[in-house]
Amino acid sequence: MMAKKPELVFLPATLPGHIVSAIELAKLLISRDDRLSITILLIKFPNSPSLNATGITFIELPQIDPPSPNTAQTPEAILSIFLDSHKPLVKDTITQLFLSSSESDSMPTRSRDSKLVGLVIDFFCTTMIDVANELGVPSYLFFTSTAHMLGVMLHLPVLDAQIHTDFEESDTELIIPGFTNPVPRRVLPQPMWTKNQDGYSWYLYHARRFREAKGIIVNTFEEFESHAVRSLTSDGRTPPLYPVGPLIDLEGRILNPDQSQFENIKRWLDDQPTSTVVFLCFGSSGSFSAPQVKEIALGLERSGHRFLWSIREPPRERFTLPGDYTNPEEVLPEGFLDRTAERGLLCGWVPQVAVLAHRAIGGFVSHCGWNSIMESFWFDVPIAGWPLYAEQHLNGFAMVKELGGLVVELKMDFRGWDDDLVIAEEVEKAVRKLMDADCEVRTKVKDISEKSRRALMDGRSSFISLERFIKNLMEEN
Ligand code: UDP
Repeated sequence: MMAKKPELVFLPATLPGHIVSAIELAKLLISRDDRLSITILLIKFPNSPSLNATGITFIELPQIDPPSPNTAQTPEAILSIFLDSHKPLVKDTITQLFLSSSESDSMPTRSRDSKLVGLVIDFFCTTMIDVANELGVPSYLFFTSTAHMLGVMLHLPVLDAQIHTDFEESDTELIIPGFTNPVPRRVLPQPMWTKNQDGYSWYLYHARRFREAKGIIVNTFEEFESHAVRSLTSDGRTPPLYPVGPLIDLEGRILNPDQSQFENIKRWLDDQPTSTVVFLCFGSSGSFSAPQVKEIALGLERSGHRFLWSIREPPRERFTLPGDYTNPEEVLPEGFLDRTAERGLLCGWVPQVAVLAHRAIGGFVSHCGWNSIMESFWFDVPIAGWPLYAEQHLNGFAMVKELGGLVVELKMDFRGWDDDLVIAEEVEKAVRKLMDADCEVRTKVKDISEKSRRALMDGRSSFISLERFIKNLMEEN
């Protein structure tokens, strides 16, 4: 009898910044080992992105209503509660999928030739470790952020025991494995500051469960975050670590299946000289108040540089994502569009990877989302950092302080999270510095860019890491 094909089931968090790298990981795994097959279970949020990827089976779980925004204080709590509520559905779906043919008539073909060998879960899905345990298979954590942030998470239970007050109020320096500098508490994700927030409890809950995983796959590469990676792999307590990145959707089609809207932008970019356009884009959840939009506009105007600006309207309801403006003129300074018509273009959601890949782009004003950083560096585009939410302040801190000035500081005083208006002069200054051909950051990014491409090559660090993961997975079964 032919041996059953090993199959992994992925449980990503269906957020733009988490799903892309999860799908890329799945694609990479099946391309590296044709014995493997992968099914991705999609937990749909009301505004989940529509997705597109070949070679992988997607199963959309029936939609469950998300918890009411009133039941949670933080997006992390809403997300975790929502994902957790899918446990019975996930277990039933997987059980159905892998029942032997005599037990189930509904999916006989699949069940005859594949065997479940593990769950690959997003770090907000750690309650699914229970499902893996019930099914008798190992769970692997897929960490979509930095090795530095992973260090914070793994150390959080220790900090929680050490520091009895809210971190915000404590004057204990945060010494965290993986960091060479003390970590200012205000660069931690905001829900971690105060213990009585539900976001804190959920971070702590997930962090405590991380070590139950059979392995942790991280979307980074060793040469980038070498100290953090080394410190995690040598502490003797962390599950085997697999830095396999950068995982980037280079075709840019997962989040942007319909690229027709990009045609106009591409034509405009085609008309601009090489490396002259600064691109502004702030992730899936970044948006600004009307006064802040005005300051950015004035700063851009005064910088004199060409720009492509992805401008998005703040969400009208809590815990929802921004949308595109129907009429951005309402929030822009009067006459701005006319005055900059020759050298600037506004857009809404845009295929970011395709933009960063364009030869006209010379700099990126970014919120320091991890995917954005990796994408920008891949295409050798330097960043001016303006962290906004989630772990972006920590990412900015890692780029500037830990990794030696890899990002131009637009708004990074490492007090983080203050709502002060960033004035036009600050925007102008950072854009000028970013676009300066002699900017020191440019040379450093070039080096990281080359390293990021090399890491994936045959025999290099991420390639070897993935090989090690596959080998260990197969040996487990
Ligand atoms: N993205 C995009 N178009 C946009 C904004 C974002 O294609 O207008 C993509 C971007 O390329 C990246 C992801 O969405 O792959 C955002 O991930 P990141 O980790 O940078 O930020 P997050 O959205 O998680 O804050």
